[in-house]
Amino acid sequence: MEKWPIGVFTSVDAGLGVKLEVAHDLGVPTIQIHAPHQATRTQASADAFLKRIGSYNIQLTAVFGGFEGESYADIPTVLRTVGLVPPETRVARTQEMKEIADFAKLLGCKVVALHIGFVPHDTASPLYKQILDVARDVCDHCAKNGQALHLETGQESAEGLLRFIGDVKRNNLFINFDPANMILYGTGEPIAALKKVGKFVRSIHCKDGKWAKNPGQEWGQEVALGEGDVGMENYLRTLKEIGYSGPLTIEREISHEPERQKAEIGKAIKLLTELKVKIG
Ligand code: MG
Repeated sequence: MEKWPIGVFTSVDAGLGVKLEVAHDLGVPTIQIHAPHQATRTQASADAFLKRIGSYNIQLTAVFGGFEGESYADIPTVLRTVGLVPPETRVARTQEMKEIADFAKLLGCKVVALHIGFVPHDTASPLYKQILDVARDVCDHCAKNGQALHLETGQESAEGLLRFIGDVKRNNLFINFDPANMILYGTGEPIAALKKVGKFVRSIHCKDGKWAKNPGQEWGQEVALGEGDVGMENYLRTLKEIGYSGPLTIEREISHEPERQKAEIGKAIKLLTELKVKIG
């Protein structure tokens, strides 16, 4: 793969990414995909999907797990509903995450990713140890499939994430770095965070956001790429510095406004293409 191929976050029948046709229309060579619903996770649909992206000359680089009942409405709701942390859904979702990894294997994809949820900050708490076990369980399942597990950034500070990865102690656990999430959740200045966690970064999102008035208490605002507080040029320069050469996957989750979503992704491609030339 060439250095820094453009990518886009897509959805087939679940999640808020763009449709495959849009990725094709915009000439994007790589995609990450939100895992489709359980009924669609079959060999037949995997074959059909591969045939389709093959005809578009698109390469799949990661499959993201997501679950029914997750809501990103506000920070307390994320805490209550997202990932493998909420106790009442943990067993079922952990099982589903393994099924998603198996579906990714049918797609020939070696990277599975997710928002694991808010990892407790108190590392002595029973909940922290439970989440370590859940992460190990999913990592071990992925390892049997020859896959890595990438944690989406946002809910943890760089230090918290490093400590968690160190405590899980699995060599197939890495990071999908999302600079906007650091801002939206108020967990730290994204460029400084990227430098700290750099050696674990194996995939990334190109997304932008603006800080909230009270970061960490309320949501920041997600905006079109280049219009927020990340600083895309500095972001790419830092990716270069940490030695990251994988896809630049644009994430713009406004699927309720498909026209605007396509237009903004088009602009993001233009911006990243210019910055690639400039920074190399
Ligand atoms: Mg993201």
